[in-house]
Amino acid sequence: MNPESGNDSMIRPELLSLTRAEMKELMAESFGEKAYRGDQVYDWIHKKGVTDPALMSNLSKKLREALASSCRAGTVMQVEKKVSAIDGTRKFLMGLSDGNVVESVLMQYSYGDSACVSSQVGCAMGCSFCASAIGGFVRNLSASEMLEEIYCMEKDSCRRIHSTVVMGTGEPLLNYEELLRFIRILSDPEGDCISQRNITVSTCGIVPAIYSLAEEGLQINLAVSLHAPNDRIRSTIMPVSRKYSISEILKACSYYFEKTGRRLTFEYSLIEGVNDSEEKAKELADILSGLNCLINLIPVNPVEERSYRQTGRQAVLRFKNVLEKRGRNVTIRREIGRDIDAACGQLRKKYMSRETV
Ligand code: SF4
Repeated sequence: MNPESGNDSMIRPELLSLTRAEMKELMAESFGEKAYRGDQVYDWIHKKGVTDPALMSNLSKKLREALASSCRAGTVMQVEKKVSAIDGTRKFLMGLSDGNVVESVLMQYSYGDSACVSSQVGCAMGCSFCASAIGGFVRNLSASEMLEEIYCMEKDSCRRIHSTVVMGTGEPLLNYEELLRFIRILSDPEGDCISQRNITVSTCGIVPAIYSLAEEGLQINLAVSLHAPNDRIRSTIMPVSRKYSISEILKACSYYFEKTGRRLTFEYSLIEGVNDSEEKAKELADILSGLNCLINLIPVNPVEERSYRQTGRQAVLRFKNVLEKRGRNVTIRREIGRDIDAACGQLRKKYMSRETV
């Protein structure tokens, strides 16, 4: 479990972070119970959505009390919610037990609800177009906290979530162990059972972690925030590019595809006058030639503190057209929740400034 998620978690295990096998082990070793008690607790949490041991009615009173006093569960609470009047997108501020808050988003699509979750409080990556980078990195989320983002949203909507993107605040591949634990528990057929094929992890390109992820035997989708067709432009908007070049990232991506067979997505935020010319589109098409991938164009969300402007609709279509003429698969991300601080990190930033006044 994540040692950085607060001292309390080092003393009291987070029940939600335990796999089914670990839950059985905990029941036997810490409480002297039969292993099947582990199955019961796991079912309450991950199938029935009950995290309060007091409500786990098929356990003995003694075990319920022991769990409540020596373990942690249900530590994430919804502190704020905004619902888009335009498209029904719900944006949440989730409060953590140490007073920090993170953002989670629930989007409605024709195929089902999709959740976007955060993996860290704040972010150290410093991408210049992103509100999450303002204020820097605070700490990693535990697997339990990431799962609770999902479960809180399912409770709020009274609907099961169909797909999940780890694309909120944070660089998930820098919280690697907890991310894997989160994915394995979330996709457990005997738990909430979100198919790994419906889980996407978005990274700004942490090359060694992409190689590691390729070896994990998972069927998840990998999305890479590229946002530039060359290192020169990328280094002006994404400091991580000083550490990992585009060619190193693309090599790692090819390896990921080779090992998993999962098609890659490259996210490309279009910023007016920075990376959105037709020439840049040609360059982008060239560097991605030979890769089985989808390019997802994102009209950048304006952030108050930055002077970046969103590329106009016509220029977005021209950019797309150039890529398609060169045989690339392209989508334009539907803009969602424009009326509710859609850009990642904006809601948390406003909350923090209110709290510190
Ligand atoms: S875009 Fe992602 S990696 Fe970059 S600062 Fe924002 S949250 Fe971090």
